[in-house]
Parts: sequence; C-alpha cells; structure tokens
Amino acid sequence: MKTALVLLALCLAGASACSHVYTHQRGRQLSEGSACSYNHAQAGLDWPAQDKECGWSCSGKSQSPINIPAKGKGTRNLPASLKAKLNFGTATNVRVLNIGHAVQVEFDSPKNNKASVVYFGDSIYTMYNSSSLNSRKAKRVNIEPLQFHFHATSEHLLSGRSTMLELHLVTKMVATPGVPMPKECRTADSMCLAVFGAMYNIRSDPTAKRGDPVMQRIIDALPKCEEAGKDCKRNVAGWKLPLKDLFPANNDYFAYTGSLTTPPCSEGVMWHVFPQIRAELSEAQAIALQTALSTAVMNGEQEKNRLNNRVTLPWNDRTVFYSA
Ligand SMILES: [Zn+2]
Repeated sequence: MKTALVLLALCLAGASACSHVYTHQRGRQLSEGSACSYNHAQAGLDWPAQDKECGWSCSGKSQSPINIPAKGKGTRNLPASLKAKLNFGTATNVRVLNIGHAVQVEFDSPKNNKASVVYFGDSIYTMYNSSSLNSRKAKRVNIEPLQFHFHATSEHLLSGRSTMLELHLVTKMVATPGVPMPKECRTADSMCLAVFGAMYNIRSDPTAKRGDPVMQRIIDALPKCEEAGKDCKRNVAGWKLPLKDLFPANNDYFAYTGSLTTPPCSEGVMWHVFPQIRAELSEAQAIALQTALSTAVMNGEQEKNRLNNRVTLPWNDRTVFYSA
C-alpha cells in the first residue's frame, strides 16, 4: 500500500506523465498499451485488487470515493483550528489536457499560494482518524496545487445523491519550516496528497445558454488530438485563474482519509469534499466535456466511455468529519 503511494507520487510528479502509463519501479516506464492501462467501462469494478507488476492496489479498506453521510448523521465536527487553509493563489500558464481518462488542467505553481492542511502524529494514515484527532498533536504543513481534473458524473455521493460533475484539485504536501513531513513522504520521490472536490450540477432548463464562465474557458481550450495523453494539450493564453474560483462560496467541507479514485488506487489521501454546489453547467457545457472523453483515442482505440466516475466504496471503520 505504502509502496503504491510512492509510485503514484512519481506519476503525479511528472504532471500527467502517468495518465495512462504507470511506472512500477523508479525509472522504469511501461510501454503504452501494456497491461497497466485501464478504463472506466465497469466504473472500476474490474480494476485488480492487487497487481504487483503495475503497483496497483484497488481493494484496500480505505478506498475512494464514498457515499458521504449528511452532516451530523455519522459525521464528526472538525475543530476550526484543524481546518485546511484554502488560499491556493492564482494559477498562471494554464494548460488544458485531454488525458483520455479525464479533462485535466495544469498550471505553473502559484507564487501567492498559502494553503495548508493539518496532520497528526507522523503518518498520513492518521490524518482524519477519530482516534488520533488531537489538536495538541496537530502539525500544519503547506500544500501546493498540482492540477485539477473532472469526473462525470460525480464520484462522491452526498447523502446518496450524485451530481453532474466533480472537480478534483490535487495538491501535495511540501516542505514547511519547522514542521516534519509525514514519514511516508520524506524522500524526494514520494508525495503525500490532499485532494479537494467541488460539485457541479446541470441546469434544469435544457435550453439555458448561460453556464459557468470558468468551465467555458476550459471547454473553449479543449485540445483536439489524434491520441489523448500528456501531449494532448492546449495553452490558455493570458488566463490568470484564482484557484478559489473552483470552489463554492461556502467552503465548509467533509473530510476523510481515502485513496486515489483511479489505479494505482493508492491510500493515505486526505479528502475534502465541498457539499455546496459550485455552479450549474448548461447542457451544452456538460455535453462538451463528456464528448471530449468519449471521443478520445488511447492506444489507437477510441474510448467509448461517456462517464469516468468510479463506483463508491465502503466506509469500513473510517470517520467522516465536517469542517463547520
Ligand atoms: Zn479525480
């Protein structure tokens, strides 16, 4: 499990380099079309429980996404002092990619980023764990945004309901003066991740033209390529994107410890999901995003998946926290 997290780290470190090709040893890369490629045809149900060759482990006890309970019904309050700080700053040199599994947006690391999260003890596995949640043992560590991407329909459910779209802003913990890193990410080739999920709906009026302007800029920049992947990208000239624009006005969130929702399904990921709907998309916007996925070509074959969400997985003995 912990090995897998390190491998994931390699993938994310190379931006989208591992979007459909996973390294399973440092420095070794599997060829395209290898057994380590995956799709969403069965919403993840066919991803292997264990695959040593690929470094996948998709049957752990702390997998994501989950069906998030209603506030107060199975959730615990997260004290204000332990809340994540969400000032991610402004993204520049924005690039829109079609990596086949998702539409992904990358950018240069924001210079004015001041975001941070709190962890406990010395391990990422105790981050949102009811038995270790002790303010006196809290360590606040800085996080750096890496990229965001979309899943349609939403991966997390809110009290059993899905939404049209879920955005994931992926961040990694970075060296913070006076604060030790969790033991899982103290080497240069490993990463500890915190992901922030925002929900989008579709407008009930199918003829409504107006959608979300942030989403429209992304749609307008969708690249068209023979092959989806890390090279299938288009720059959005001059766009300065305040990353707070990706989140709803009320940024209270549900938090729990989960996993990546795509192979290698690595665990120890700090999840934050905003229940307030960020925006409503027009039908044309929703269709544009879904078409980008369903028409992408990977390994010479057209993806026929219209959706790219993984099924929800059991909570098991995890605690879900609410930040307000
Ligand atoms: Zn995601």
